[in-house]
Amino acid sequence: MTTTRFAPSPTGYIHVGNLRTALMNYLIARKAGGTFILRIDDTDPERSKEEYVDAIKQDMEWLGLHWDRVERQSDRLDRYAEAADKLREMGRFYEAFETPTELDLKRKKQLNMGKPPVYDRAALALSDAEKESLRAERGTGVWRFKLDHERIEWNDGILGDISIDAASVSDPVLIRGDGQVLYTIASVVDDTEMGVTDVVRGSDHVTNTATQIQIISALGGTCPRFAHHSLLTGPQGEALSKRLGTLALRDLREQGVQPMALLSLMARLGSSDPVELRSDMAELIEGFDVARFGAAPTKFDVQDLFPLTAKHLQSLPLADVSEAVADAGVPAELAEPFWAMARENITTLGDLIGWWELCRDGAEPLIADEDRDFIAEAMRLLPEGQLGGESWGTWTAAVKEATGRKGKGLFMPLRKALTGMERGPEMATLLPLLQVIRARG
Ligand code: GLU
Repeated sequence: MTTTRFAPSPTGYIHVGNLRTALMNYLIARKAGGTFILRIDDTDPERSKEEYVDAIKQDMEWLGLHWDRVERQSDRLDRYAEAADKLREMGRFYEAFETPTELDLKRKKQLNMGKPPVYDRAALALSDAEKESLRAERGTGVWRFKLDHERIEWNDGILGDISIDAASVSDPVLIRGDGQVLYTIASVVDDTEMGVTDVVRGSDHVTNTATQIQIISALGGTCPRFAHHSLLTGPQGEALSKRLGTLALRDLREQGVQPMALLSLMARLGSSDPVELRSDMAELIEGFDVARFGAAPTKFDVQDLFPLTAKHLQSLPLADVSEAVADAGVPAELAEPFWAMARENITTLGDLIGWWELCRDGAEPLIADEDRDFIAEAMRLLPEGQLGGESWGTWTAAVKEATGRKGKGLFMPLRKALTGMERGPEMATLLPLLQVIRARG
């Protein structure tokens, strides 16, 4: 049974970068009829915040990425301690006492000598007495996992065959001096115990995966299938990492981006399939295949979300947007014709307000000097009584007859006079909504 998880640390809001991870894991689980776990990686008590846990859930719900259950790492600390004991008994765990400054110095020396900055395992040579005195002097050390120096290989769902020389990787620290369990061991224990079958995450985790594969096998677990998606860059290929803070899902929501637009883009960006607006989650699930994604960095342009949002909105019936239409101030009896007029002329629902203001208050007319008499004449010819769908046709036919104008010379001055703009909605649908005209008695 396929089980996937999205495992954010609640130290910030979800942004487009981690949305990609969430979505891929979600789609894999749903496509296989499996389980999707929302795992809160909150082993860091200082940086983890409850407000971010709530925000992550809100953002996922907004997108419709519903999880089957939530797991919290802070509830499972005893499981991690047990795994640590096991590794200790096996002789795969050792205590090391270097300070960050000392480690930094070691790294710099190695780099100066043209060597890879890999932890030199000096702590393995410490005698019990030396450890005792270091402990007395510096407190408990960190616990490192002793990698077997062999090649670590896996077939990555996106990157293909990967082979990493374990000797080129530092023995990972799994537990801090203050006892805080770190992500690597917590994640491995969870993935194993929760029966996670597929892990998709960013390619910044490739080295972690190598070490995790050895830890899983030391603990006697079964490795999930791993796939590492490329990282997002800005439209020019520039690193996005620093800007991700401004690309939080809540900011996009605030700007009017629609979930389906965001999901449709993210489910295809960086894959060999074209980006297509999908109408619902079922279509997204149907059309998703992680193997279609490539290793190359993926360019992301936030602007691409707006045409998709506009297209999505255009496809919606009034029922799906009635709240936004009402919030824009449109009276219920005009909601249907108003939406029919506005839907093709908005980028986001926020634009409804402007169109309603135009309907309600009219526009500052745009009338060229040479059109003044023409407009005055036209206004006298406006059909009496309630205007409807056919009024524009009746009216312009009468104006044409009276003034001899036709084509653009007929329609454009009328549009500009009534809307103050050169382009916009179909005049036939807009005219009956213009309250100033309705109210003219
Ligand atoms: N909490 C980790 C992160 O956000 C999870 C990585 C993983 O998927 O294993 O980077």
